[in-house]
Amino acid sequence: MKFYKGKINISAPNESKLSLPLLKLDSEKPGPKRLLVANQHGSETAGIMLIYKLFEKIKASLDFNGSLFAVTTANPLGLIRGTRNVPVGDKNLNRQYPGNLIGDLSAQTAAKIFDLALGMDLVIDLHNFSRQSMIIGVAIDYANQAANISKEVINEFLPDAVWQITAKGADPEFDGCLDTNLIINNIPAFGLEMPPLEFLSDREIERIIESLYRAINCQFLLNQPKDQIVKLICPAYETKKFYSNQAGIFLPEKTLFAEVIKGEKIGTIIDVNDLSKKPVNSPESGILFTVKYKCFVQLEAKLGSIGRKVN
Ligand SMILES: [Zn+2]
Repeated sequence: MKFYKGKINISAPNESKLSLPLLKLDSEKPGPKRLLVANQHGSETAGIMLIYKLFEKIKASLDFNGSLFAVTTANPLGLIRGTRNVPVGDKNLNRQYPGNLIGDLSAQTAAKIFDLALGMDLVIDLHNFSRQSMIIGVAIDYANQAANISKEVINEFLPDAVWQITAKGADPEFDGCLDTNLIINNIPAFGLEMPPLEFLSDREIERIIESLYRAINCQFLLNQPKDQIVKLICPAYETKKFYSNQAGIFLPEKTLFAEVIKGEKIGTIIDVNDLSKKPVNSPESGILFTVKYKCFVQLEAKLGSIGRKVN
């Protein structure tokens, strides 16, 4: 097995040079090419830790075929600044795909990552919420082979639940995502969401590493074609976000995945000026898919999301 350290070079608009780290584990045996992408959102660092752990585990003890590539940070400036968006231009990198080689920094970064990803048999995009969450697979719903293979790989990963996003349909917000564009170009891809790194237990990390190892070795990666519709094993949900109606200390009052009905109280916001309490009510019926930890929130802060089961 060989380990390579490389770079993806990007020319920023002011002609200063920026590069993304590109790592590779080569088994020196024929097999699928997979790519892990972490930290598209600069404030999300769980994926960096997961890539480190997975590479360590494979190097130490595990057998695999083919190769495993990893971009440990797709947004190095956002990582330094601790910002979700790319600080130059303040854009969400994961809404810029397929990117543009003569565009701004976000568009160029997206184009370079997309070009690399198009040569892969599987791409896994690693994210984390800033909120309480289970281990969530993100599946792009689309009628093609890549979407079917991706669902087989997600079944192999076995997350707690799947967040299902419809490509070029009901969720236009996600049309510029890496996974959406890969699936449409028939490259198997899925996303992962989880709690932030500081709230991930060692047991959860261990479980995700084992799941990732199973996923990258999924037998369906090279056994194409795969035309029949694949059913997800774990429950899949569409989600709807809910926001704060005032600033203050947010206190969640329901546990994750609790059933809630439309209008039901799911938390309280305490006003800093007079200590009065206001309820936060669920915008619709479903399960509490994600919810903020107790914290100070601004007006119209994203507090969480409600999941509606789709399978
Ligand atoms: Zn993210």
